[in-house]
Amino acid sequence: MYSLARPLTAVAARSAARTFASAAGTTLVVVEHKNGAVLPATLHAITAAKQLGGSITAVIPAADAASAAPVVEALQQHAPSAILVATHAALAKPAVAEIVAPLVAKAAETSGATHIVAAHSSWGKNVLPRVAALLDVSAVSDAVAILAEDTFTRPIFAGNALATVKATDKVKVVTVRPTAFEPSAATGSAAGAPVSEISADATTATEFVKEDIVKSDRPELDAAKIVVAGGRALKSAENFQILYDLADKLGNAAVGASRAAVDAGYADNSLQIGQTGKVIAPQLYIGAGISGAIQHLAGMKDSKVIVAINKDPEAPIFAVADYGLEADLFEAVPEMTQKL
Ligand SMILES: Cc1cc2nc3c(=O)[nH]c(=O)nc-3n(C[C@H](O)[C@H](O)[C@H](O)COP(=O)(O)OP(=O)(O)OC[C@H]3O[C@@H](n4cnc5c(N)ncnc54)[C@H](O)[C@@H]3O)c2cc1C
Repeated sequence: MYSLARPLTAVAARSAARTFASAAGTTLVVVEHKNGAVLPATLHAITAAKQLGGSITAVIPAADAASAAPVVEALQQHAPSAILVATHAALAKPAVAEIVAPLVAKAAETSGATHIVAAHSSWGKNVLPRVAALLDVSAVSDAVAILAEDTFTRPIFAGNALATVKATDKVKVVTVRPTAFEPSAATGSAAGAPVSEISADATTATEFVKEDIVKSDRPELDAAKIVVAGGRALKSAENFQILYDLADKLGNAAVGASRAAVDAGYADNSLQIGQTGKVIAPQLYIGAGISGAIQHLAGMKDSKVIVAINKDPEAPIFAVADYGLEADLFEAVPEMTQKL
C-alpha cells in the first residue's frame, strides 16, 4: 500500500459555503420531482440557491395542482418564500424539456427572478439552456462554487481546470453540480409559503413515448456514501459479481463502472462514472481494474477517499488515489470481501 497526494481541485471550492446578502433579488429554483417526491439533486440546488442570498421561489412543473400537492408539501419544509406550480397537461407524462422550458421562463417573468437555478442532472442540463435561450441570456453550467451573486466557479477540460466566470446578463441561469453543495435539510415544519399556479403556451412537436428503468435495490450511484467501481479488466458482466459482493460487505454501497466496462456490456449505462456518465463524490470510492483516464477522473476525483486496485503500477489512477494497491483484482477484491 502506498499513498499519494491528490492535486487540489474542486474539493477546495466545495468548502466555500458563503451567503451573499447582496444583489440577488429572487432566485427561482427549478424543482425536479418524480412520483410525488422531490429528487435529491434539487435539494442540493436549493442550498446553492440559498447561498445567493436572495429570496427563493420554487417552480414545480406539473400536470395540475393536485398532482403537484405532495411536492408542494415537501418543498414547504425547505422554507421557500413562494411556490409556483407551473401547469401543462402534457406533464401528466414525464416532463419533456420543450414543455418545461417555456413554463420556467414564464415563472421567471412572474416572480421577477434575477437568478434561475437547477441541478446539473440530465434533466436540468436539458431544460436550463432552453430557458436561457428563451430569455436571451447565457447559461452557466455545472457550477461548483458561488463566489458572488454573479460569479461562479465551474470545471472545464474534464475537470482539469477551474474557470471563474462572471455572468453579466440581467438574469443568471445556472446549473449547479449536486456533489459540490450539501443537500438542504428539511426544517421539520411546513413554513407555509404562498402557492400560486401559472401556465404558459407550450406547443411542441416533441412527445414523451416510453422509458426503460433499471430497477435496483442499491442506493443511487450519485447519492451513495460508498462506491465500488469496476473497469475493463473485469472482463465480463458475471465477473462484476465480485464487486457486488464487496459492496454488500461494505453495507449499502453502490456499484459503478468505467465507460470501457459499460461499452463492453459488463455493466449498465446508468452505472457509468465520468465526464459522460455520473459525477460522484462519495466518502469512499474503490476503483478496481480502472486505468484512470481523465474522462473517468472527471467523475470521481472529488471523492473523499480514493482507493485504487490495479496491477499496473504506472496506471494514472494512482496519481489521484489516497490508497493504492498494486495487485490482481481477481485476488485482491475477494480477499478484501473475505476480510471485512
Ligand atoms: C469524449 C469521451 C468521453 C468519455 N467519457 C468517459 C466516462 O464518462 N467515463 C469513463 O470511465 N470513461 C470515459 N471515456 C473513456 C476513457 O477515455 C477510457 O477509455 C476509459 O475510462 C477506460 O476504462 P478502463 O479504465 O476501465 O479501461 P482501461 O483503460 O483499459 O484500463 C483497464 C485497467 O485495468 C488494469 N488491469 C487489467 N487487468 C487487471 C487485473 N486483473 N487486476 C487489476 N488491474 C487490472 C490495467 O492495468 C488497466 O489500468 C471517455 C472517452 C472520451 C473520448
